[in-house]
Amino acid sequence: MTANGPAAEATTVEDEPSATAADDGAAGTESESALATARRQLERAAAHVDVDPGVVERLKHPTKVQQVSVPLRRDDGSLEVFTGYRAQHDDVRGPYKGGLRYHPEVDADECVGLSMWMTWKCAVMDLPFGGGKGGVAVDPKTLSEEETERLTRRFAEELRDLVGPKSDVPAPDMGTGPREMAWFMDAYSMQQGETTPGVVTGKPPVIGGSYGREEAPGRSVAIVAREAIDYYDRDIEETTVAVQGFGSVGANAARLLDEWGASVVAVSDVDGGIYDPDGLDTGDVQDHDERPGMVSGYDAPGTLSNAELLELDVDVLIPAAVGEVITVDNVDDVRADLIVEGANGPTTFAADAVLEERGVPVIPDILANAGGVTVSYFEWLQDINRRQWSLDRVHEELEAEMLDAWEAVRANVDGKGLTWRDAAIAVALSRIGGAKEARGLWP
Ligand code: GLU
Repeated sequence: MTANGPAAEATTVEDEPSATAADDGAAGTESESALATARRQLERAAAHVDVDPGVVERLKHPTKVQQVSVPLRRDDGSLEVFTGYRAQHDDVRGPYKGGLRYHPEVDADECVGLSMWMTWKCAVMDLPFGGGKGGVAVDPKTLSEEETERLTRRFAEELRDLVGPKSDVPAPDMGTGPREMAWFMDAYSMQQGETTPGVVTGKPPVIGGSYGREEAPGRSVAIVAREAIDYYDRDIEETTVAVQGFGSVGANAARLLDEWGASVVAVSDVDGGIYDPDGLDTGDVQDHDERPGMVSGYDAPGTLSNAELLELDVDVLIPAAVGEVITVDNVDDVRADLIVEGANGPTTFAADAVLEERGVPVIPDILANAGGVTVSYFEWLQDINRRQWSLDRVHEELEAEMLDAWEAVRANVDGKGLTWRDAAIAVALSRIGGAKEARGLWP
């Protein structure tokens, strides 16, 4: 439980699944689309599951990918046209489910890859949902609040035929949050002629959102990290943690682990990170949503770049910013004993293989950050029943769901000797394969 951190100038950028993000200097040159990675992960895990090869073949392809043009009247009166997407990967177990991101690099392949991960994520959690993902190729930082509202309402209208509480239920993702979900829900409801809160999740609680939804991905990362620390016979009180990305996922995970006794020695946001070998007081550090860029403004004994944070000699590393930050270019310098993925897809396929060879366990995104979609499911239930749950109930049920999923994946790790990622995809695949085989192929 040591942590040796260099002090260096702050550069690079990070954030997490449900907040603004940008590129990362640590991402290196290895580049593969989320779709290519997701397909390779599927093939690898499928070898360990008794599932019809035809089902695996089918799951390499999405059901549908919708591309739409989203014209926006800018505040200065000019018109700009953005491109939006919604990928629907699979719905054998229930409505497509997954976020909408606003990020300049959104494209069809990325949405399809991320929608595949949503299919696995929902199945690992045993939720009655399939996988979807979408977004608009736009840098949300370049839009005024009014422009963001107009863009969101028009995007909702372009997707109206596709989405709905029983067909496809979007949620926040990178660059979007409760505010965008409220506009989306309102635009959809106005056109449908009835208030339809269940069309999206991650809304503000005042219009049918769930208490605890915003903090849920970070909470699940912390729960899973706690279980993993215990599984590897470590004492949480003697565990050092570094968290890349101090938006809602990273900040909530860091604060909970800190509360449970771990020593969070480094955190970072888009502008760089801070380091204290004795442990930071994470409650005092403002997160990216409270005040962007404030992490590096915090008075800590040391500062470090996002790239350096990934290489700290800590017990647990939590990449909770953007995807593809642990790559073949930096994996040899990653010194953490355990990695818990807070972001979606932070470890490339090749880097994953190196970590496996070195015996460094990686607890995958589809399990670790699945608290978000799990509380989305709670929200969807609350919307259908028109009855709000208390925060205590959300916490209690989330804890139970996370422990069930952890146990299912752990049984595959212990029983079949799989990596945590293979084990999680295997759990998902056996549930999805079972459903597909029972339903059969139409016509
Ligand atoms: N965007 C989140 C994720 O990647 C949440 C999706 C949802 O709640 O539907 O898991």
